[in-house]
Amino acid sequence: MLIVLLGPPGAGKGTQADLLAERLGVPKISTGDVLRAAVRDGTPMGLAAKAAMDRGDLVPDDVILGIMKDALDTPPAAKGAILDGVVRTEPQAAGLSRVLGELHRRLDAVVLFEVGDDELVRRLSGRTVCEKCQTPYTGREPGTACDRCGGTLVRRKDDEPQAVRNRLAVYQRQTAPVIDWYRRHGARLVQIDAVGTTDAVLQRALAALGR
Ligand code: AMP
Repeated sequence: MLIVLLGPPGAGKGTQADLLAERLGVPKISTGDVLRAAVRDGTPMGLAAKAAMDRGDLVPDDVILGIMKDALDTPPAAKGAILDGVVRTEPQAAGLSRVLGELHRRLDAVVLFEVGDDELVRRLSGRTVCEKCQTPYTGREPGTACDRCGGTLVRRKDDEPQAVRNRLAVYQRQTAPVIDWYRRHGARLVQIDAVGTTDAVLQRALAALGR
């Protein structure tokens, strides 16, 4: 299954992407993860993207399209993929559709995770992430140890309050219109209430996808 996950920052897309990927037996593709790895490795793409990422702004569409193309045109992604945060602007939606056409593939569904603004701010400003394995935590202090690998939990620069406000504004301005883009282009759009336990949200998503 080839699925696009949409939803505001803090809606839990990353966590659900991991779980859906495992359940459906396909890889997760996250442009955020690819970009953070590029920043860590100090590649030219990482150096160019870092400032925009730290502010909570989007990186240019052509950079994202390059990542999409490379990630989709691989043997593991031939069976499908969960695209997490990969489509954030209308040109990216159009670009993905073009890339898929070239690969003779099509999207099975677009899953929209819905959470109210107050809850998003609460989640993002209380979020830390393991600097080693990237596992996210809510309500855990920076400097404490990761349950999974023992790495140190840190606050992402773009989870600082100013960047969080900016990311929500960017979502409303640039990403929310993508929902309509998919509606207009006849995609199978599935809306999920993303408030609740991780497992409850996963079950809703699987049920809505008929799995
Ligand atoms: P995420 O972990 O998905 O929230 O992504 C972290 C940051 O990477 C975003 O705030 C953007 O700066 C950048 N980014 C990730 N995916 C995209 C995308 N599809 N379009 C533009 N910027 C992106």
